[in-house]
Amino acid sequence: MSEGRTEISAIGEFGLIDHLNENIIIKHSSTIKGIGDDAAVIEAGDHVKVVTTDLLLEGVHFDLSYAPLPHIGFKAVAVNVSDVAAMNAVPKQITVSIALSNRFSVEAVDALYAGINAAAEHYGVDVIGGDTTASRSGLVISVTAIGESKRELLSYRSGAKVNDIICVTGDLGGALVGLQILEREKQVYLANPDMKPELEKYGYVTGRQLRPEARMDIIHELRELAIVPSSMIDVSDGLASELFHICKASNVGVTIYEDKLPIDKQTFDTAVALNLDPITCVLNGGEDYELLFTIDQKDFGKLEKHPDIHFIGHVTKEEEGKYLVTKSGTAVQLKAQGWKHF
Ligand code: ADP
Ligand code: MG
Repeated sequence: MSEGRTEISAIGEFGLIDHLNENIIIKHSSTIKGIGDDAAVIEAGDHVKVVTTDLLLEGVHFDLSYAPLPHIGFKAVAVNVSDVAAMNAVPKQITVSIALSNRFSVEAVDALYAGINAAAEHYGVDVIGGDTTASRSGLVISVTAIGESKRELLSYRSGAKVNDIICVTGDLGGALVGLQILEREKQVYLANPDMKPELEKYGYVTGRQLRPEARMDIIHELRELAIVPSSMIDVSDGLASELFHICKASNVGVTIYEDKLPIDKQTFDTAVALNLDPITCVLNGGEDYELLFTIDQKDFGKLEKHPDIHFIGHVTKEEEGKYLVTKSGTAVQLKAQGWKHF
């Protein structure tokens, strides 16, 4: 970049990654895919390895006043497994690095690891290493996951084709709504510590925020059905933002339909009660960790009756743009607000 000072917020997180990528030169033919997808892809004999990493910081990604340590440990693993899943690969190993301030005891680290080990068991991965260091400001966790796939089974962000069907698993917006509830109850508690947080009736949305599931179940089902998504990404920053990534990588456009977007009833009702537009939560909420993928029309019959896969639209030519068709039939241009870190 030119001389002078450029604020990171001026180019954004994705702009920054693109900027860094400009000066990275790949040296090995075994590096099949570097920066730019949910995980990197490395050749390994008759199969490929995928590698992905995520960093979670106290005060940025989680708040210990409402997130239990075992849940944080589980989530740190699940979000990486989700990126492995998004390549249509199966996770095998993880490394776990932690930084701790002196606020944390051995018992606290045990609680964190109870969640990490539960997730390792749940997703069938081995914890093979990591790093431990001191921190000046709270807890930091970084997990790296390594997965495996056959090269021909990989799904990149870049493979979507015109007329493919756009699919999304589960339901969306819950994690964002859950976060709003947890923040609200925290403020109520801070204002009056005698008040008991009113969380019982928000179990689903708070669970979506605190203990997300990576959709490995879907990856295994797709394998059994012999379906390889033409493109795939996990929904960590919001549906609209992820659709933009697929469009950019695949040089395509998309049309999605408001009435096809999956939203849970508790998410919907809670959003309305919080004065949030439920569709905005679905489009721009973060951290749902569902899978967004495209399939060829010929595969539709095999998935049509699946109870947890929703067909939200189709892939169009790039020049047709990116549109959301509202319930009233109006096409509005999609905006990727995403989950802003900067
Ligand atoms: P995801 O949300 O799937 O974890 P990100 O948006 O974090 O993906 O990252 C997108 C791509 O950019 C990935 O290929 C990731 O490895 C790469 N990336 C992110 N940060 C950096 C960085 N600081 N240096 C190099 N590559 C990065
Ligand atoms: Mg991802």
